[in-house]
Amino acid sequence: MNLRRATILTAVVLTACDTRMTHSDEITLLVVNARVWTANPKQPWATGIAVGGDKIVSVGSSAEIAKLAKAFPRARLIHAKGGMVTPGFIDSHVHFLTGGFRLASVQLRDAKTPQEFIARIKEFAGTVSPGTWITGGDWDHQQWGGELPTRAWIDSVTPNNPVWISRLDGHMGLANALALDAAKVNRDTRDVDGGAIVRDASRNPTGILKDNAMAYIDKVEPPASDEMNDRALQAAMKYVAERGVTSVTNMGDWTALAAIERAHNAKSLITRIYQVTPIAQWERLRDTVARRGRGDEWVRIGGLKGFADGSLGSHTAAMFAPFTDTPKDSGFLVETEADLYKWTSEGDKAGLQMIVHAIGDRAINTQLNIFERVEKENGARDRRFRIEHAQHIAPADIPRFAQLSVIPSMQPYHAIDDGRWAEKVIGHERAKTTYAFRSLRDAGAMLAFGSDWFVAPPTPLEGIYAAVTRRTLDDKNPDGWIPEQKIAVEDALRAYTIGGAYAAFGEGIKGSLEKGKLADIVVIDRDLTSIPPETIRDAHIMMTIVGGKVVYERH
Ligand SMILES: [Zn+2]
Repeated sequence: MNLRRATILTAVVLTACDTRMTHSDEITLLVVNARVWTANPKQPWATGIAVGGDKIVSVGSSAEIAKLAKAFPRARLIHAKGGMVTPGFIDSHVHFLTGGFRLASVQLRDAKTPQEFIARIKEFAGTVSPGTWITGGDWDHQQWGGELPTRAWIDSVTPNNPVWISRLDGHMGLANALALDAAKVNRDTRDVDGGAIVRDASRNPTGILKDNAMAYIDKVEPPASDEMNDRALQAAMKYVAERGVTSVTNMGDWTALAAIERAHNAKSLITRIYQVTPIAQWERLRDTVARRGRGDEWVRIGGLKGFADGSLGSHTAAMFAPFTDTPKDSGFLVETEADLYKWTSEGDKAGLQMIVHAIGDRAINTQLNIFERVEKENGARDRRFRIEHAQHIAPADIPRFAQLSVIPSMQPYHAIDDGRWAEKVIGHERAKTTYAFRSLRDAGAMLAFGSDWFVAPPTPLEGIYAAVTRRTLDDKNPDGWIPEQKIAVEDALRAYTIGGAYAAFGEGIKGSLEKGKLADIVVIDRDLTSIPPETIRDAHIMMTIVGGKVVYERH
C-alpha cells in the first residue's frame, strides 16, 4: 500500500469506526451482524469486530464495522447472521498427543468386513515412512461375525512396517510378520500365564496375542517416532479447532513439547498451547525457563503438573470418610504429603506454576494446606496455584480457593458423566459439594474449565451445557443433578475464555475480545444466552479463528 492511500484509509477508519483507533492498521477480517459476547466487563456485548493481522482492531456496532468493509475491500467479511461470537475457547486440561494419536492412527473400529480391515491398513501403511510402527486401530472382529484376523491377512500389504494393532477393548492385538520378528515370537516361543499366543495347526503364531502375551510385542515397540508425534499433534489441533478451541493447557511431557516446538518452527500451529511438564522433573523445567524464557503467544512453558490422588471411579480418590459403597476404604494419596510439600515449595521458589491433580476432599484439603504454607514461607507473588479437577470439596474448603487465590480447574462434562453413579460412591451429603461450580463462583474463585480430553470430549459447548444444566448423560436428572450448583451461561463462558487465559498467565493477550488482544474468535450459530439451556449442545461452531486466520469453517 502506498503512503497516500494509507493516509486516506486511516482517515476513513478514524471517522467511520472507532475514535480510539490511532494507527493505520490494514483491516483483514470483519465480523458483522453478530451477538458478540466479549468477556470484557467494560463492554460486555457488541455486534461487530474488526481484525487486522493477528490482532483485534475494533469491537463495536455492526454498522460501524460494516463501513470498514468498504474501506478495506480485500478484508474478509463474515456475516454471523445473528449468531453468537465469543473469544476463542480455552480448554484448560487436555492430554493432547494421546487424544491426537487416537485420531491419527489407522481407524478400524467400524471396519465391517475383513476386506475393509485389510484395505484400511494397506491405505494407512502407504502414508507412513518405512519402519514406522502402525499401532492403535481399535478393531472389532464381531463386526464381521467373529473370525479373528491373522497376520496372513495383512503381511502382504505391510511389507515395510511393523503392525501391532489392538482390539477395541485392549485385551488382544494383531501383530504382522515384522512385529513378530522384532519380538522374536515364533513357533518355539513359550506361552505365558494369563495370556495366549494363538497358533495355527503347525504351532506358528497367527499374529493374535492375548492379555499377558501382548507384553512380548509391547516390550519391543519403540516409542512413537517424531513423525507420528507430529501427526498426532496436527490431528489434535484440527479436532479441537472444529470445536471452537483456540488455546489449551496440555498436561504433557517433554516429548510432547518437542513435537509442539517442531510445529511452531514450521509455523503449523493452529492451537496456542500452554505445555505443562511433570513435577518430578521440576529442575529440568526451571533450567529450561532460565535458558530460554517462557515462550511466546503460541507456546508457553512454566507449569508443573503433580498428582495428589487418583479418581472417584476407581475408588482411589483420597477422602476424609470411607466410600459409601466400600465402608472400609477411603482411597489414598498417591504421593506422600512430605513429597507434595517439597515439590510444591521448590517448584514455587523456582518461579514455576504449581498445578496439582486433586479429586477427593482429603486430597484437596491436603493440597490447599500445602499451598497456604508455601505462600506464607515463600512470600507474596503472582503464582496462580491450580487444583485440577477439584471434584469433591469439603464444604469448609470452598471459600479457601478464593482466599488463597487457588484456581479450580474443572471439567463440567465429568459432572454429567459421573453424576450417573457418583452418589452410590460418596452418598448424597458429600454430593452437594461435588463439582461445586456455583459455590466456588459465589465464594469468588476464578474458575477455569476444560475437558480432560482424551478422557472426555474436548467440546466446550458440551461443557457449557453440562455446567448450566447438570443434566446427567442418562437424562435421569432433567432439572439437574445437585441443581444448586448450576451456573449461568455467561459464568461458564467466562471459565472457558478469560478464566482459562488467567489460569495460564495469558489474560493480557487473550481470553476476551478487546482491541489489541489476539484475534482468537469463535462464531456459533445461535446465542447461547437466549436459547433453552438444554439445547446448548445442539448449537454448532460455524467458524474458528486463531490469530486472525480462519482455521475451521463449517460448510
Ligand atoms: Zn487429565
